[in-house]
Amino acid sequence: LFFTIEGLDFSGKTTLVRALKDSLAGTGTHFTREPGGTPVAERIRDIVLDPEAEMDAWTEAYLYAAARADHARGEVLPRLERGEDVVCERYLDSSLAYQGFGRGLGLEAVRGLNAYAVGAVIPDKTFYLRLRSGERERRARELGAALDRIEVVGADFMRRVEEGFEELARQEPERIVVLDASRSPGEMAEKIVGEMRQLQYT
Ligand code: C5P
Repeated sequence: LFFTIEGLDFSGKTTLVRALKDSLAGTGTHFTREPGGTPVAERIRDIVLDPEAEMDAWTEAYLYAAARADHARGEVLPRLERGEDVVCERYLDSSLAYQGFGRGLGLEAVRGLNAYAVGAVIPDKTFYLRLRSGERERRARELGAALDRIEVVGADFMRRVEEGFEELARQEPERIVVLDASRSPGEMAEKIVGEMRQLQYT
C-alpha cells in the first residue's frame, strides 16, 4: 500500500517520519520523499529549491511533476507491484496546495498536469499534518531556519497553501487523515500505524 505524509513547511513531517521509521522497523516498509528520490528527481530538486533560481509558476509546476513522474514510476510503483508498503513524504497534494493554491495556478489545472506523471500511483491514505500559519511562523523564527526558495516567499503564500491543504482535506475525507501537528511525533506515529494496520487487514 502507498501512504503519503503532507503538510506545510515546519509542520514536523521529517521528525514524524523518524518516529514512524522506529515504529515500523522490521516491517520492510520503504520510506522515501519528494521532490527527489531518484538521481534525476534529486537534480530537479536542486533546481526548484535553489534560492537563486527565478522561474515562472508553470515551469515550477512542470518541474515538480517531472520529478514526481520519475520517482513515482521508477521508485514507488515497482515496490508497490512487489507488494511492499511505501511511505512518501510529500506527493501530489503538495503540488495541488503549493502550485495550485499557493502560486494560484488552480486546483484542476495542476491536477491535470500531474495526471500523467502519477498514473495509477495514487495514495491509499494520506496523513496531513495540520499546522496553522501563525504556529508555522513561530516555529520558523524559533528554528532561525535557513529558508529555501519557497520558504522565503512569505506569509500570504503560506496561508494560501494552508487553505489548499484544508480544501483537499474537505474534498477527500476518506483518503486524507488530518493530524494535529502540535501533538508529539510519537503520538502521531501511533495514530498513523493504527490507520495503516486497519487498511492492511481489510
Ligand atoms: O519537504 P521539504 O520541506 O523538504 O520540501 C522542500 C520545499 O519544497 C519546501 O520549501 C516546500 O515548500 C517546497 N515544495 C513546493 N511545492 C511542492 C513540494 C514542495 O513548493 N509541490
